Amino acid sequence: MRSFVFESMPARVVFAENAIEHLPREIEQLGARRALVLSTPQQEALATDISRRLGQRSVGVYPHAVMHVPIEEAARLGADCVVAAGGGSTVGLGKAIALESGLPVVAIPTTYAGSEMTSIYGLTEAGLKKTGRNRRVLPKVVIYDPLLTIDLPVAMSITSGFNAIAHAAEALYAENLNPITAMMAEEGIRALAQGMPQVAKNPRDLDGRSNCLYGAWLCGAVLGTTSMALHHKLCHVLGGTWNLPHAETHTVILPHAIAFNYPAAPEAMARIERAMKTPNAAGGIFDLMKQLGAPLSLKEIGMKQDDLERAASLVMEAPYYNPRSTTREGILRLLDGAFFGRRP
Ligand code: NAD
Repeated sequence: MRSFVFESMPARVVFAENAIEHLPREIEQLGARRALVLSTPQQEALATDISRRLGQRSVGVYPHAVMHVPIEEAARLGADCVVAAGGGSTVGLGKAIALESGLPVVAIPTTYAGSEMTSIYGLTEAGLKKTGRNRRVLPKVVIYDPLLTIDLPVAMSITSGFNAIAHAAEALYAENLNPITAMMAEEGIRALAQGMPQVAKNPRDLDGRSNCLYGAWLCGAVLGTTSMALHHKLCHVLGGTWNLPHAETHTVILPHAIAFNYPAAPEAMARIERAMKTPNAAGGIFDLMKQLGAPLSLKEIGMKQDDLERAASLVMEAPYYNPRSTTREGILRLLDGAFFGRRP
């Protein structure tokens, strides 16, 4: 007998080439009249274009995502919703505003990070990154427009794609996996494994972009409804303590975390292998990374070998659930393989 809990996150999704054209309608359906558009400084042109499309319904652009949470700015302008256009950082800023003010968020993702589908937020307080889950921060509407991802540089597209695959891979051996989530995770990996080589070959290939963004949506959705394991713990420690870049760290660690968990999660591995058309999940991920020119080692993304011992200790201090039990020695061996970029 099957027995499970399935929770779907109640966001409305609009997915299409030129989906951005639906934004005014979506804002109207939310009952909002005064949207504040958020972006990073690098994506200010996109935010300005969105603001222009909204006309009277925009109160302006806030192109400083990441640095500050502009609660006062939103209040001063009388904003009644925020539009977050960009990657995980910009969506994260929208969530921080929602957490404090309750304003609804419309997310327009332009990377494959998947944050728009989760109720997970991160706040930096006194230099420490804290994360939590709260339904309040979940975007009400998500607009996926592959055209907006055409300019995402190939290197970032690839690492962001592996970041997404990591969510789905860990969902497949999550403690609280259910059959619906498993289906979504496998399909998400399949779409990205198909789309990433298309994008690497031609970044303007709309079919490839669409495959990747569709995969990113599914991978984000499964991240939002399952609990993550060793891979995410490792990345959290490396990103939080050594400030390693987010998507690159997820990429480098993934094949090693999968190899570590391989013997303990045969059904998950079979799904990954089917989705990626590979005889071995860990080796297949590593080979695809290599083929697509992704970083392969912690060394090349800024980690120091002397810090591996401390990283292993930090991982063991407050471990997440993991299908295979962890030891400090095992973690250290995993990190050593990732440091040098050995094929697992
Ligand atoms: P990012 O949002 O930091 O973006 C990196 C850079 O790429 C930025 O300068 C951005 O402006 C630029 N960029 C984004 N899209 C672009 C495009 N289409 N064309 C050109 N430039 C573009 O990177 P990210 O990897 O998307 O997000 C990482 C952050 O998201 C981390 O802080 C991570 O913790 C968070 N995150 C949170 C969740 C969650 O559920 N809460 C999930 C995944 C990631």
